[in-house]
Amino acid sequence: MKLKLAYFYPTLMNLYGDRGNVRTLAERCRGREIELTITEIGIGDSSSLIAYDLAFFGGGQDKEQIKIGEDLMRAKAGNLRAAIKDGLTMLAVCGGLQLLGNYYRPLQGPLLQGISALDLRTEGGAWLAIGNVIVQAELEPGKKAIQMVGFENHSGRTYLGPECRPLGRVVYGFGNNGEDRLEGARSFNCFGTYLHGPLLPKNPDFADYLITLALARKYGKVDLPPLDDHLEVQTRDYVIHRVKKQYLFQKVRK
Ligand code: GLN
Repeated sequence: MKLKLAYFYPTLMNLYGDRGNVRTLAERCRGREIELTITEIGIGDSSSLIAYDLAFFGGGQDKEQIKIGEDLMRAKAGNLRAAIKDGLTMLAVCGGLQLLGNYYRPLQGPLLQGISALDLRTEGGAWLAIGNVIVQAELEPGKKAIQMVGFENHSGRTYLGPECRPLGRVVYGFGNNGEDRLEGARSFNCFGTYLHGPLLPKNPDFADYLITLALARKYGKVDLPPLDDHLEVQTRDYVIHRVKKQYLFQKVRK
């Protein structure tokens, strides 16, 4: 089996090791002898995206988002919206998530138009939401929810519109806006999250879910053989334990 991954703006949109998400997808495909080809999509590239099975869009500071914003709207918006509607499996982190929405209005600087692939808007906040996060996510209705861990650092406050579901609920952390306890966004097979870290190495079940969705669009339902994830699971559980202790300590101190 073969999968094609489109990697958007790899040099400009890469915070807190976001690039590690692409590496994790490649490793987890390799572990099942799935051939994954990765194509870097940069400024000026306007080719069709329908033939891709997976896509990744990392985070970036406001100044990086400004650098790519015009190109995203001019050269990629239509193709990317069409591919997402067609079922492309995509993961977008933080600044990438914001630009898949309707707009991002930073506190300073120009309003950044988004490609409106996800029904959400983002308003710049006066202070940065920084810290470890635990999220409870029900990936499939009726399926056991999973806990995911990551790290957030953003000034944007994101509000979901009626066409968009959250990725999950915040157990610990700030999340989309610090008000509605929601984290991330989901529409079709397009997922957005504020979780850096990178996210996927410590959350192998979510990584496999993305691969399974991409395979299903191309080959029909495929059950992935399990990998030995004891290190990944140990790491995630250790982080969950540490985050809970940290928040409990903060609570006691208040
Ligand atoms: N620049 C955006 C914000 O501050 C996104 C930051 C990020 O990708 N971590 O909200």
